[in-house]
Amino acid sequence: LDAGRETEIHRQFDELVHVYSGLALSQDAPGRWVVRGDLHFSATFEAVTIEDTFVILLLLPRDYPSSPPMIQETGGRIPRDFHTDPNGNLCLGAPVAVRARFLQNPRLLPFVNDLVVSFLFSFCYFQEHGRMPFGELSHGGKGILEYYQDLFHVKDHLATLGLLKILADDSYRGHFACPCGSGANLRRCHGPQLRGLMPVQSNERFLQDIKAVLCSLSEENIKKLNKNMLPKELLRRLETFSPTNDRSKAKYI
Ligand SMILES: [Zn+2]
Ligand SMILES: [Zn+2]
Repeated sequence: LDAGRETEIHRQFDELVHVYSGLALSQDAPGRWVVRGDLHFSATFEAVTIEDTFVILLLLPRDYPSSPPMIQETGGRIPRDFHTDPNGNLCLGAPVAVRARFLQNPRLLPFVNDLVVSFLFSFCYFQEHGRMPFGELSHGGKGILEYYQDLFHVKDHLATLGLLKILADDSYRGHFACPCGSGANLRRCHGPQLRGLMPVQSNERFLQDIKAVLCSLSEENIKKLNKNMLPKELLRRLETFSPTNDRSKAKYI
């Protein structure tokens, strides 16, 4: 299996380096594949062409290509407060959206072409024009909530959390009432959309999305929640959780 993965990574890298010749493939540790080097790109949006070079590091997760690479900009040009997570990984979009996009075409070249170059283009464009070219989600949990609200066409964070709870708990039943409040059962409402999301990421990742959303909510919105709206696994973890370890979680116990 590992030999197969290695062959696949080499094959994908050959395709990538054919277009982006400043990149190199190596292993930081056995099985920990990374691509680093200069990424030179030229991209055009609404008659604005940007050509630039960034020093990047692509980290291929253990389960690559079942999960997308993580990417860091290592030349010190992108400030940490510009869509960068606490580990230094660039936030290319809502995690579920990045996964869905990557899984459509799970190779390095389309990942760089579609997701990385548009991120770097946006950064350069923002620096020059003071606004993002393709619109922008908030960063972190707030952006995740905005993404799902838009996807589900709901305005309410409670409806969104109710739908995500089904994914985190793996509790989909077509005849249950849809938590969006339409009065229809899931099968005739958000069911098909939820079923489309299920293969994109694990229950655990939906749980992480919910946690990020919860941490971003205002006190007022947290007060509107009750225990039944939270995933079972999250409640189980909160029971064993000590508030001194993580103050952000203490807010919604
Ligand atoms: Zn962000
Ligand atoms: Zn619904």
